[in-house]
Amino acid sequence: MNKTKIVFATNNAKKLEEVQAMLPESIEILSLKDISCLEDIPETSNTIEGNSILKADYVTENYNYACFADDTGLEVESLNGEPGVYSARYAGEPADSEKNMDKLLKNLDGIENRKAHFKTVVCLNLNGEQHLFEGICNGTILKERKGEKGFGYDPIFQPNGFSQSFAEMTMDEKAKISHRGIAVRKLIEFLNNL
Ligand code: IMP
Repeated sequence: MNKTKIVFATNNAKKLEEVQAMLPESIEILSLKDISCLEDIPETSNTIEGNSILKADYVTENYNYACFADDTGLEVESLNGEPGVYSARYAGEPADSEKNMDKLLKNLDGIENRKAHFKTVVCLNLNGEQHLFEGICNGTILKERKGEKGFGYDPIFQPNGFSQSFAEMTMDEKAKISHRGIAVRKLIEFLNNL
């Protein structure tokens, strides 16, 4: 059987493995390394959607492959959606999660409304068409760090309906409710129904 080859525009081996395991056998995921795309892909848009589109289009246009790419940001209501598309480098370069959390906690000091959500957008380019899949996880920003697991802002993000932060959940628990989990499941459902 001829497999459909789709590039996942990421260098994160864990993300690749996870997504490949969820896909039908007829689809083979290629990494950026597999297609010898070793340069940094520009992420210059000021929206999360825009960056996922930029990344997927870069691969399709320059390497002529079907491709999907994801982009994520944390949007805090009382900070007008900050840090949003700038989540990775909120406290400047080089990206540093501890400094990012410190900056966010400082900016929310004394503010009652701590509502926030993570948003992931996955952009898929396939057969000349573009499809976007979105995942949102609503929650609140805690006043201090809780838990050791996860990455990024996980220790200070508590999803609605739970008493643990993301950093207190196992990977499986988090994936069931997370922004990325939701968006990736939508992508996979689409690919499974091709
Ligand atoms: P990316 O688009 O997946 O690289 O995410 C951009 C940035 O958002 C990361 O560098 C993290 O700071 C933050 N982020 C994304 N996903 C998560 C998550 O699931 N938990 C905590 N922080 C995250």
